[in-house]
Amino acid sequence: PQPNPQAGAAVKAADRAHVFHSWSAQELIDPLAVAGAEGSYFWDYEGKRYLDFTSGLVFTNIGYQHPKVVAAIQEQAATLSTFAPAFAVEARSEAARLIAERTPGDLDKIFFTNGGAEAVENATRMARLHTGRPKVLSAYRSYHGATSTAINLTGDPRRWPNDLGAAGVVHFWAPFLYRSPFHSDSEGQECERALQHLEDTIAFEGPATIAAVILETIPGTAGIMTPPPGYLAGVREICDRYGIVFVLDEVMAGFGRTGKWFAADHYEVTPDLMTFAKGVNSGYVPLGGVAISGAIAETFARRPYPGGLTYSGHPLACAAAVATINVMEEEGVVGQAAAIGERVLGPGLRELAERHPSVGEVRGTGAFWALELVKDRETREPLVPYNASGEANAPMAAFGAAAKARGLWPFINMNRTHVVPPCNITEAEAKEGLAALDEALSVADEHTV
Ligand code: PLP
Repeated sequence: PQPNPQAGAAVKAADRAHVFHSWSAQELIDPLAVAGAEGSYFWDYEGKRYLDFTSGLVFTNIGYQHPKVVAAIQEQAATLSTFAPAFAVEARSEAARLIAERTPGDLDKIFFTNGGAEAVENATRMARLHTGRPKVLSAYRSYHGATSTAINLTGDPRRWPNDLGAAGVVHFWAPFLYRSPFHSDSEGQECERALQHLEDTIAFEGPATIAAVILETIPGTAGIMTPPPGYLAGVREICDRYGIVFVLDEVMAGFGRTGKWFAADHYEVTPDLMTFAKGVNSGYVPLGGVAISGAIAETFARRPYPGGLTYSGHPLACAAAVATINVMEEEGVVGQAAAIGERVLGPGLRELAERHPSVGEVRGTGAFWALELVKDRETREPLVPYNASGEANAPMAAFGAAAKARGLWPFINMNRTHVVPPCNITEAEAKEGLAALDEALSVADEHTV
């Protein structure tokens, strides 16, 4: 990358003057001006390069600027850059076919959206109309998006200022052995107690009032907690028993991230609805959607579905999805994610945990890992309190700054850092990132007891 600080300053000045950023106190942020990106790296206008251990917001599953996907978008733009959703269009048809062929079981119809939150909104709407019931249950430790229903379904604190719109949303605790809500001391016990807790919640809410249970197959933003064996199958069984629609949100975990096409493939469960976005086209053009079971599709076979979007199945986004899925097949990207997790990231992170007292737990699979940073390994007290900001968050801020100074862009959420690079990150790149993480964790160690 050629340094061009003047151009960078202009980009930054216009941003600061006119761009209103997500989730932020506008005057308290300092966005980095990005000049370009390729593969697993991006760089700024000073010419400083960063290894991206975040995949953007966990969406560049095949890295930045893959030439085949860029070419497919260019070609689609030249042929048919847009078209209204009521028509049959080649890119849309082909994307739907490729997705439906990979989703589990009978999830064979695809409703396209512009992203994950809209997918969750529509899955919720489908479940409510299909069952004729009002309520939806979701986990406290979850993120489902920022539109009205999706943010209410979300468990994390970003829900709090939005809680007023929460009609019919009920939260429950999903399994998480390291910080067990059920005080369990084994995976088996955690699974059993979590399933009992869900059943109790359903009993007290009234089974006949519940349209859906929605879960991230492996919760992402909330901490990459792989569910204990038997949990998702147990939820499936409970939903079947009460006629509740089971929705799996694979917006973050889908499309190779966990080392399978979908995280549900690890657990051999088929939900009734599955939401996706992000990795479907590596985030090159906004796209999300809902994969729909035969039974729910049947509900809307002769009755109109009361939902739609101007850009549902936008040709540019769908062409990017077709190219991305084909690239993933041709280059074996799903297998690459599994292999990098097994051979490099898993062992490497566990080795870091042995040496760094700030690492309380390492969890994950594929290109989907979290390090739980703690003050004290014995008590498991988080390195910073839940939802900390300002001074209270200083240890995580210092960790993040140390990583960036070493050329690693880290994913940070509360007291955790997630290692979520592109699924096709090379072994050398992954090792470079682990070495930078090693140094940054020494900064976190300074805040342990
Ligand atoms: N669901 C999950 C599991 C997510 O991780 C996200 C985004 O991070 C969403 C939904 C919302 O997706 P979007 O930001 O595209 O609306």
